[in-house]
Amino acid sequence: MVRIYVFNREGKIVGPVESPRVELSDDEWRKRLSPSQFQIARSKGTERAFCGTLLDNKMEGVYACVCCGLPLFSSNAKFNSGTGWPSFFQPIAQGNVAEHPDFEHGMVRVEILCRRCDAHLGHVFDDGPRPTGLRFCLNSESLTFTPSERLGELADPAAEGEGTGELGPGTGKSGHTATAVLGGGCFWCTEAAFEQLEGVSDVESGYAGGTKDTANYERVGRGDTGHAEVIRITYDPKRLSYDRLLDVFFDAHDPTQLNRQGNDIGTQYRSVIFYVNEAEKVAAAAKIKKLNEGKAFPRPIVTTLEPLTACYPAEAYHQDYARQNPGQPYIQFHAIPKVCKIREKHADLIRTER
Ligand SMILES: [Zn+2]
Repeated sequence: MVRIYVFNREGKIVGPVESPRVELSDDEWRKRLSPSQFQIARSKGTERAFCGTLLDNKMEGVYACVCCGLPLFSSNAKFNSGTGWPSFFQPIAQGNVAEHPDFEHGMVRVEILCRRCDAHLGHVFDDGPRPTGLRFCLNSESLTFTPSERLGELADPAAEGEGTGELGPGTGKSGHTATAVLGGGCFWCTEAAFEQLEGVSDVESGYAGGTKDTANYERVGRGDTGHAEVIRITYDPKRLSYDRLLDVFFDAHDPTQLNRQGNDIGTQYRSVIFYVNEAEKVAAAAKIKKLNEGKAFPRPIVTTLEPLTACYPAEAYHQDYARQNPGQPYIQFHAIPKVCKIREKHADLIRTER
């Protein structure tokens, strides 16, 4: 875990908050980055001076890590150093940028890296302007830029529940809710597994991945709409972290079965995490990697990561189905064992009835 500052959905920076480190293999980074981004951010390359796309960017906003979305620098600390690389006199928050001595090329320099994913950013020198006297020399390829009016797009799962809106020790208030959309086969079963969790205020069965006109049970059942049966979980991230939510998700279904769960066969039963931003995407990818490496399952995880565009509620009779139909054989055979497994394995997360 690292302690970092991140943006919340209101576009305010909050922290410090705890976030898992993001560790992916080179192959996985290659899939997510362009060749030049990979060369610089993952292989410690340097772009040619005066060639970076962000060198002359004068817009107000935030520069974040190209690999994991962690905010790194603000436009209000950017200055023209004349060196040909984007330059800043301080990071957006202490702790988000790590420093390491670098003895490459016969020089002693200080390399700067993303605290969360170790992306190579550039170097820091002591010939910068006031007030810090430092010059953080960056590669454009290691950064993405988000303009001030769209900072909510940098919202990070680690920020959920941190409602301070100010830099400084987190005094996040409870009561703020977040949503997650997950597909793990039949939604009757996954809905039941998640409804018992402390901090979960609502679980709705629905369809995601396709269009509005096909978002109905009969049409989705044909398996050619792009939709998956999903649940939309509304939760209080102060009491249940996204990380633990994913742990429960991977225990509530078999993520190694491609486009099926047991006898439920078709892409509508695929294992899928619908992410709402880059930070959720990398958190989910890192979780899958960790489970695969730890051999949590006998076969590799086939769960897909897909951007959430919309989630359509399922018909009323599907909502709360397991609770309404406890004697139904499918519920007896499939949903109840999953509910029990989660109760046992995640006992600390189970709601105590008051
Ligand atoms: Zn990063």
